[in-house]
Amino acid sequence: MRAGSRVLRFKLGKSQSNADASLRYVVRQAYASVPFYRRSWDAAGVSVAGFRGVEDLPKLPVVTKDELLAGGLDDRLDSSIRRERLVVRSTSGTSGAPIAVYMTRPEFRFRQLTLFRAMWRAAGRPFPVTIVEAGAWIPPDGRGEVLVRRMPLVKVVYISRRLPLGEQVEALRGLRPSILTGCPGSLEMIAAEMRRLEIRPPRPRAVITRGEVLHPGVRGLLAEVFGCRVVDFYNAQEVGNIAWECPDREGTYHVNGDTCVVEVVDAAGSPLPAGREGRLVVTNLYNTTMPIIRYAMGDRGTLAPRDGRACTCGHRGQTLVSLAGRDDDFVVLPDGRAISPRLIDDLFIDACRSLGIEDPFTRAIRDYQVVQDSPSHLLVRIVAADAPPERLRELLVGNLAALHPELLCDVDWVREIEPGEGGKRKRIVSSLRP
Ligand SMILES: [Zn+2]
Repeated sequence: MRAGSRVLRFKLGKSQSNADASLRYVVRQAYASVPFYRRSWDAAGVSVAGFRGVEDLPKLPVVTKDELLAGGLDDRLDSSIRRERLVVRSTSGTSGAPIAVYMTRPEFRFRQLTLFRAMWRAAGRPFPVTIVEAGAWIPPDGRGEVLVRRMPLVKVVYISRRLPLGEQVEALRGLRPSILTGCPGSLEMIAAEMRRLEIRPPRPRAVITRGEVLHPGVRGLLAEVFGCRVVDFYNAQEVGNIAWECPDREGTYHVNGDTCVVEVVDAAGSPLPAGREGRLVVTNLYNTTMPIIRYAMGDRGTLAPRDGRACTCGHRGQTLVSLAGRDDDFVVLPDGRAISPRLIDDLFIDACRSLGIEDPFTRAIRDYQVVQDSPSHLLVRIVAADAPPERLRELLVGNLAALHPELLCDVDWVREIEPGEGGKRKRIVSSLRP
């Protein structure tokens, strides 16, 4: 049974009982060999002896990144594995402290396989497949700023984010990707530059974004420039692919049941019913080297009710009806309510539509940023396309102020929005946490 579960965690197309068996194995290994989990579960008075699977997950405490990092590497790694044989991947650290994720080779290969498989499926199963990752992070070790990796039937080309924009555009121009991937910010810059220079862009089968909230204006720009579907993924170094956007329903994400289990919890870590928005907590189903168990991602979202029926795209299993963004992407109202970046987008869209502008993020608002400097004040900076209608400011202030009677807003037209830390252009900047 034990040996079976050890291998089962690398199965593609896991059933519910496969997921339960994998989880039992991961939890028992974590308790036996990882000091951090043994200590925190002992402190919480949890016994893993009778742990059955997904239904028992809420008995375990929720873990934050800071808690997992606090005790150092020896505290969070399986003490029986030789460290020099492990593969390490680090998060970028643009949102909080970076975390290094450790895996054995089989764990790393499985993670990669699930990522490629999700992309391959989203692009309509091209064969063989060339994936181009734009704005990639390549370690500065002299191997160059454009890296090519060949695997059986898969070629991946990484274009470094350190290259000047013009050279990134040049590198992409000479390639014929079946899939173009990257974070929305990187792809947006490249797409805008190609359009500005009137360069004929490549025609991939799909553009796959990940790593930041995909703003509707950016989705529209990418679809127009690259002439293909734009599919958003919820990926994280701690798991790999957590969820992918349903091909039939924009904004709905199917959880990758081969890699993880997703829960939505309240501030105290208790599970919330389907349909309620809360903190996203993930549990990795295959990594026993550095287990990720009930780990708070720092993101917010909402799970769909499970009625046993398959989605029109064929997916069975968990679905996120909304992926609302990072905790710090939210505007927090004076009464503590958190307003998601998507709702802010909607307020902009509504203001434009009431002026008869149907395609607001290409026709009226090129870019924007909302800065919350106190619980009751927002500063909105807008980069307008062409000549913005004068009434737009008034309508926007009205829409934003309607969120709460004590909320005051100022709207400024600006020429451009400066990138923040790590070169990311954040649309919502707030020092308040929901
Ligand atoms: Zn679907």
